[in-house]
Amino acid sequence: MKRILVIYTGGTIGMVKDTKSGSLLPFDMSKIYEALPVLREFNCDLDSYRFDPIIDSSNMNPEYWIGLVEVIEKNYEKYDSFIVLHGTDTMSYTASTLSFMLENLNKTIILTGSQLPLGMIRTDGRDNIIGAVEIASSETINIPEVCIFFEDRLYRGNRTTKINAEYFEAFYSGNYPSLAKVGINISYKKNLFLESPKGEFKAYKKLNDNVVIIKIYPGIKEDYFRAMLSMKDLEGVVLETFGSGNAPTEDWFIMALEEAIKKGIIIYNVTQCKAGGVVMGHYETSAHLVEIGVVSGHDITTESAIAKLMFLLGNYDNREEIITMLTNPLRGELSIN
Ligand code: ASP
Repeated sequence: MKRILVIYTGGTIGMVKDTKSGSLLPFDMSKIYEALPVLREFNCDLDSYRFDPIIDSSNMNPEYWIGLVEVIEKNYEKYDSFIVLHGTDTMSYTASTLSFMLENLNKTIILTGSQLPLGMIRTDGRDNIIGAVEIASSETINIPEVCIFFEDRLYRGNRTTKINAEYFEAFYSGNYPSLAKVGINISYKKNLFLESPKGEFKAYKKLNDNVVIIKIYPGIKEDYFRAMLSMKDLEGVVLETFGSGNAPTEDWFIMALEEAIKKGIIIYNVTQCKAGGVVMGHYETSAHLVEIGVVSGHDITTESAIAKLMFLLGNYDNREEIITMLTNPLRGELSIN
C-alpha cells in the first residue's frame, strides 16, 4: 500500500463554507477522508501536513519554498509520493522551483488545486484531488518528477503556465505534451517521463532572489529599462522578448544590456509566446543579443526561467557553469532543437 503525504499550503481548494456564517474558511485537511470518503477506495494511506499559516499562493515566496522543500526532505523516506495542495495563481512557479530544488527525485510529487473551493457544489477540487491520489497511489507507475494535475491532465510542472482565471482548464504546457490523461482510464505516456535518477536524492535549500523579470513591449522607455537593470545587487534577469527571441535593435537598448552583462549580470532570454521558443540569431533583431552575451532560454517558460535563475544563483558560484546549466535542461524544463 502506498503512503502519500498531502501537504496543504493554502489556496482556494482548501476552503469550505462555514455552515453558520456562510463564509469560506480553511478546511481541516486532517479530515480529508471525511470530506472525500471515496479516497478510502484507493489502495493508499494518506497523511496530511498543513502549512502554518496557510497562504493564498499570491503570497508565495522563496522562504515558503524552502519550507516546503524541508517538509518533503524530512518525510522523503517515510512516504512513496507527495501531493501538494496549492493555490492556482503561482502553482507553476512553485512546481518549477521545487523541480530544481529537488535533485535526483525518485518519487512522484503532484501539485493540484482548484478554481472553485472544495466546499462548493460544482467544485473542480474534488476531481483534482481524486485524480492526483489515484496517480500518486498507482502500484505500477512511478513518475520521478514534480507534476501538476489539473482538470484531466498530468503535466510536467516546470513546463506549465496558468492561462485561465475563469474556466477549469487552467493550465497549459505549450512545449511539452501531458504525461497522462484521465478519462475512462488513465493513459500514461511513460516515454515522456523523466528517467529514474541514478544519483542520491538531494534537497537544496538556497535561492537567490536578486533577479527580475523584464517584459519588453513596443515603446519601452530607456529610463524604465535602465531603472530595472540598476536594481541594487541584481544578478540575473529573465528578459521576455518577442517571438523567437527578438528585441529592439536601438543602440540604447543594446548598450544598456551590454553594460549589465559587463557588470556580471546574467540576461536570460525567453519568449513571450506560450509555445515555441527562442532561436537567437534567427532574425537580425536577435543577432545583437548573441554578440553581447545574452543567454538563450530556448523554449523554457518564464515561471521556470525565474525559478532556475534563483536556484542556480543561490547554489553555484561559477558564472560559466551557471550559463551552461541555463542553456541545457536540468529537469526536463527545456528542449534544445
Ligand atoms: N488566489 C488563489 C491562490 O492562488 C487562487 C486559487 O487558489 O485558485 O491561492
